[in-house]
Amino acid sequence: MRIISVVLLAMIAHLSMAQSKVVAHRGAWKNTGAPQNSLESLKHAFEMKCGGSEFDINRTLDGKLVINHDADYAGLRIEEHTYADLNKTKLKNGEDLPLLESFLKLAKKYPNTLLFAEIKVAPSGAAASEKAAEETWKMVKKYKLLKHTVFISFSYEASLKLVALDKKARVQYLTGDKSPDVLKAAGIPGLDYHFSVFEKNPDWLKKAKSLGLSTNAWTVNKQEVMESLLKQGIDYLTTDEPEMAMGL
Ligand code: MG
Repeated sequence: MRIISVVLLAMIAHLSMAQSKVVAHRGAWKNTGAPQNSLESLKHAFEMKCGGSEFDINRTLDGKLVINHDADYAGLRIEEHTYADLNKTKLKNGEDLPLLESFLKLAKKYPNTLLFAEIKVAPSGAAASEKAAEETWKMVKKYKLLKHTVFISFSYEASLKLVALDKKARVQYLTGDKSPDVLKAAGIPGLDYHFSVFEKNPDWLKKAKSLGLSTNAWTVNKQEVMESLLKQGIDYLTTDEPEMAMGL
């Protein structure tokens, strides 16, 4: 009986360890039918108890932070249009174009899942990306979710802005063109690179870990790649297949 309980506990611990590493890319949408980057896909990721859920942030002309992958929404450039104009088109499930604020309000009810908040590169330039980064950080702070949020960006300027604002901000840089040493020296505490970057630079994960950087890879949808990265001790795996990854 005792042995069975010990084995069961070990299995549960193992499962929850794997789960804590899984980040649902744009929420859990692929196997749920929810639109990407919707409140519905975020809620699915929370209810599945994913370690994290990723989403993309753009800033409208009137300063609203909205959740959408591309710089354009319904054929309109987000940064050149007001929220009211953009929101004339709804998501395919009938939701409004989601606001960051709505995501944060929902997240308050699910404290066990981290938010991976991607600040998108603004088409008009680095200054606009930095502004979006600063406003995102302020809103996350307002909702007291800084410890539950990892800020990610392809914009190096936005990543630097976040660590300048807040030395303790959890930031992972996305582009894959900087070595762990360069990030460490710049004060950026993490990296989230395409999995092929780790294949081309087989010592980077180990190096990043030895420097105390947090590590993540996108977008890992194949089981053998997931297993290889988990074996190397990666902290997070960002995937369109959270159900599969959580089963490993
Ligand atoms: Mg993204």
